[in-house]
Amino acid sequence: MDWKLHVILSLFLYFLIISVFQFPFPYSVAAFILLIFSSLLPDLDHPKSKIRKAIFLLLFYFMTLFVVIELNVDLGMKILILMITLILTYYLYKFLPLRHRGKRSLHLWRYVFIFPSLSLVLFAFANINISFALFIIVGYGSHLISDKIRKF
Ligand SMILES: [Zn+2]
Repeated sequence: MDWKLHVILSLFLYFLIISVFQFPFPYSVAAFILLIFSSLLPDLDHPKSKIRKAIFLLLFYFMTLFVVIELNVDLGMKILILMITLILTYYLYKFLPLRHRGKRSLHLWRYVFIFPSLSLVLFAFANINISFALFIIVGYGSHLISDKIRKF
């Protein structure tokens, strides 16, 4: 579970892919974000990983944004909803029902196909280029491979 190693390997793979295929600039930036994110995603199953903190901070940020901007209730109610949201997010973060290894781990090869497949459907509905799913396969797959190599 060394996030720096996964980032370095992803960067190497990213520049290799980008230099071979010569994608346009905006596509390359989006691909970069997806590749780095998906190369760190498997460690969401580790209670002390950086990616778990980052995902839950982002989750809380977006929920707060939604409550502050979109919810049409008075200030007292917004504060109450935010406090409940904070507590629920914290408990979900703390007690996420995943294990770093074994059956409830995200370090299983099936997820290299499940996550990109789900993303493919999501991208198709959101009218986003479905080829981005390939970067998720590369990112997620590179994480599992580098974890395997480090074991030996
Ligand atoms: Zn890992």
